[in-house]
Amino acid sequence: MSNGSNQRMGLSRRALLGAGASGAVILTTAALSVTTAMPASASQSGWLWCNQCMSLWWPGNGFQVRCPIGPGRFHNSTGSGRYIVNDDRDGVGQGGWRWCAYCQGLWYAGNGDRGYCTVNGPGGHTLAGSRGYRVVQGPTTNGQSLWAWCRRCDGLWFADNGTVGYCPFQGGSFHIFAGSGVYSLNQD
Ligand SMILES: [Zn+2]
Ligand SMILES: [Zn+2]
Ligand SMILES: [Zn+2]
Repeated sequence: MSNGSNQRMGLSRRALLGAGASGAVILTTAALSVTTAMPASASQSGWLWCNQCMSLWWPGNGFQVRCPIGPGRFHNSTGSGRYIVNDDRDGVGQGGWRWCAYCQGLWYAGNGDRGYCTVNGPGGHTLAGSRGYRVVQGPTTNGQSLWAWCRRCDGLWFADNGTVGYCPFQGGSFHIFAGSGVYSLNQD
């Protein structure tokens, strides 16, 4: 166990140092303090951004996933980084986020409604089978900010690409930024 922890700490420090030459000393300090607070991080990497609808989705289940851009279309993640979403147990970020087993998207379940799902329509997303996730609010040193929550679909989408993408709301709409804070995601 201790070997595993040491390896994780080493990887984490290298990744942060690689983020930029300037401010390396500050980054190292931050990495050490974060590692101390989270000895057993279970954050999940490999989430992707879709370049059509702007949404964050999970590709790990081995099938093509429907995209709200239109009927018969699938998410396209050419050009996407590999995004990390924090596990609830890490305690970092806003809780209440879940993965939807229907549309494979990340959505906010903390408002008591199910949003609008590309696959399940107005019946909304499902909580079934999902662990709890957290998303960091506000800009961070190493993260990519200007991700946003869409109050129409409850999904997380990237709002800094000059487009509002496509939202599954009412069978074809656009994500909206109003009512959301700014969220940040780290990449591998
Ligand atoms: Zn898409
Ligand atoms: Zn869904
Ligand atoms: Zn939306």
